[in-house]
Amino acid sequence: MPQTMTEKILASHVCEGTLQVGQEAGIRIDQCLTQDSTGTMAWLEFEALGMDRIQAQLAVSYSDHTSLGFKGESTDDHMFLQTIASYYGAKFSKNGNGVCHQLHYERFGVPGKTLLGSDSHTPTGGGLGMLAIGAGGMDVAVAMGGGPFYLTVPKTMNVFLTGKLPPNVGAKDLALELLRRISVKGGVGYILEFTGPGARTLSVPERATITNMGTETGATSSIFPSDEVTRTFLRMQDREQDWSPLAPDEGAAYDVTVEIDLTSLEPLVAMPGMPDNVFNIEDVAGTPLDQVFIGSCTNGSYQDLKVVAELLRGHKVSTDIDVIVSPGSRQAWEMLMEDGSFLQLTQAGVRMIEPGCNACIGIGFVPGTGHLSLRTVNRNWQGRGGNKLGKLALCGPQVAAASALKGAIADPRALPAPVVEIDHLTVDDYLIVEPRGSNTPIRRSPNIVPLVPQHPLPPVLEGDVLLKVGDGVSTDAILPAGPLTQHLRSNLPEIAKFTFHYEDESFAQRALDAGGGFLVAGDNYGQGSSREHAALAPWQLGIRAVFAKSYSRIHKANLVNVGIVPFVANTEKLAQGDRLRIAMSDLRGPLVVENLTQGTHIPAVIELSDRGQALLRAGGLLARTAADSA
Ligand code: SF4
Repeated sequence: MPQTMTEKILASHVCEGTLQVGQEAGIRIDQCLTQDSTGTMAWLEFEALGMDRIQAQLAVSYSDHTSLGFKGESTDDHMFLQTIASYYGAKFSKNGNGVCHQLHYERFGVPGKTLLGSDSHTPTGGGLGMLAIGAGGMDVAVAMGGGPFYLTVPKTMNVFLTGKLPPNVGAKDLALELLRRISVKGGVGYILEFTGPGARTLSVPERATITNMGTETGATSSIFPSDEVTRTFLRMQDREQDWSPLAPDEGAAYDVTVEIDLTSLEPLVAMPGMPDNVFNIEDVAGTPLDQVFIGSCTNGSYQDLKVVAELLRGHKVSTDIDVIVSPGSRQAWEMLMEDGSFLQLTQAGVRMIEPGCNACIGIGFVPGTGHLSLRTVNRNWQGRGGNKLGKLALCGPQVAAASALKGAIADPRALPAPVVEIDHLTVDDYLIVEPRGSNTPIRRSPNIVPLVPQHPLPPVLEGDVLLKVGDGVSTDAILPAGPLTQHLRSNLPEIAKFTFHYEDESFAQRALDAGGGFLVAGDNYGQGSSREHAALAPWQLGIRAVFAKSYSRIHKANLVNVGIVPFVANTEKLAQGDRLRIAMSDLRGPLVVENLTQGTHIPAVIELSDRGQALLRAGGLLARTAADSA
């Protein structure tokens, strides 16, 4: 029977269950990645699981989110990550080496393999033909120890590409067009497979931009074929031996097909709010800007930045705004130096910032109050840039470069289109540190706080609804990123004090005072970043259950892993302050939520496999794994 790319990779990695859409299956994970924001907790969890050495084929611990070490605690985290990776057998990518996703497909990714990363943009690796999935730190910890990763077998969406990108239109415009068509919810439950003759016209970095942005559709992952384009890219990375072909079989069946003619695409901009708030350039051209940020794991490749350098050649950026370029990797940084682009960009008035995440999550280059910052990143929701009163718009490097010249959103098609041909890439792995083994002392600062034990689910849950929120609440809203919290990722008691900080600053203290309680939400609760802390922090405050209409995939898994019950219910009639009681007798059937305040009853279900229910009963993944190995 003809197979999709997803089916081929899943079939060669399944180790538990059957590969039926909608059913849970366990798959073997070949490679794992962590980063400094989620990685400290993932490594603490790896230790709590009692693992003595990395068992996956490859694990890489990246330091990228706070690479500039904006606080002493961040620097402590980096040293902890380097030494613990070395101790347990993982490679460590040091500060300044670049952003995990770009670095991983450049230096480590292998077509046809599975990659699990504690970052929601891990699917970037699909640009190289990997099945790359983002997950919470606990799932990654288990996978690093050689355990399976459990996922609900997704449906597949064929994004069939024809034609060729027009001049000064880029891969990001394709990603934004897809978001415009299917929305930030359209990929939920799917893996997006990019196929067709148009796919062959795209380079690996362009494909990686698209698979990176696939995360914003809610998709489990996104994947391109591994073809001669992939092989050429790996040859330039001195890794041709890692190449193998991957393509869907002729006649492979997809659940949905979306056709996009690349030739018909235009420059697009996602205006503030959500990545699917997409406009044609004509409709937003002339909008004044305050900042332009070019780079990140979405558009930080050498190819992206070379295009920008060529568009700015002989011009100066507007002095009414600030413009930064932050390459996604040191390879891109060195290539820009080698070919003179670095000087060209600097002379154009661009500020060059070291490879890393930093500004993408509001560590520096924070937009001012009411300011509009145009960025080549992947997310533009409120607060993402480090100031909830600043606004972010998303675009590709071509629009960003043209807009930097004008100081306002501008159509790049008014500029001559550069021809960028790349025939070599400089390989320099000096900042990737090989593991040295268990003689390495693990350096822990007081800010590195071990997890407290998980406790079994009680027979009855009773408490107050401490907060009611609406639809689409992101993990950024549950636990803000940026300078407020970024240095506290390894200190759960402290970081938990910022839970729902922007929504309700009193929440954390109220939860602590009440000894815990419940959260109520609408649709797609926990969308966005894979941030496990958005589950861990409420758990630390004593939250035992969430009632929502639906959940994002990763966040729901994170809730279960930490032992918070993710009830699915019609939450319209639940109000903040209501006291609820639920007998947790049979987790499989509909349960009755007794609203003691309103004197009403509503049904609620827990949509989990038997394995998920067992995790909840045990109190979470750590407790369950400890019980299994006792
Ligand atoms: Fe880093 Fe931003 Fe990419 Fe996240 S989205 S990995 S913060 S560059």
